[in-house]
Amino acid sequence: MARYTGPVCKLCRREGEKLFLKGSRCLSPKCSVERRTYPPGEHGRDTQFRRGRASDYALQLREKQKARRIYGILERQFRRYFRIAQSGSGLTGSNLLILLESRLDNVVYRMRFADSRNHARQLVQHGHFAVNGVKMTAPSYLVQPGDIVTVREGSRKRKYFREMSSYMEERPPSPEWVVVDGNTITGTIDRMPERREIDSPINEQLIVEYYSR
Ligand code: SF4
Repeated sequence: MARYTGPVCKLCRREGEKLFLKGSRCLSPKCSVERRTYPPGEHGRDTQFRRGRASDYALQLREKQKARRIYGILERQFRRYFRIAQSGSGLTGSNLLILLESRLDNVVYRMRFADSRNHARQLVQHGHFAVNGVKMTAPSYLVQPGDIVTVREGSRKRKYFREMSSYMEERPPSPEWVVVDGNTITGTIDRMPERREIDSPINEQLIVEYYSR
């Protein structure tokens, strides 16, 4: 599955806020958003002062782009998620966020087995994880309640996984919809998340408006 491979911090500077795409670096003084508060590009500094009030369309577009960037998804697949969310019962915006949260790369990140969603995606693609005992290399796999995510036997002897407990201690706590055992590096999906439990800084209503134009 295709993914964005360009400079990551530029994405945060474009959105004008921290999207936490690089794990621990995002919490350090090295964060680009803190060092350079203007948008990227040759005219970034100029636009910082010239910007007037953004149009409704611009706000909707920026919110959609921000969500895509947080979850590391390209436009085509994001639109596909939106269509699935639209066809479900309940609020489309909430359905969309719940779908994004149930991607395997996000779940591995939420379980604290990876430093960021990008890192989780890489670990999944390299075949280190199994879902319900079956090797899973697709970061886009959508988990279901009851699914058990584990590190595969062959990967457990790697230094990174042997030292997992110490890494996990430094990471933000896992949400309540997953149950995680750091000693066995195993996580269970207890239930699907509710909208109020998703802390991504996204106004999903603007995304719904964007695709409803
Ligand atoms: Fe964004 Fe993290 Fe880079 Fe800061 S360090 S700009 S939060 S990806």
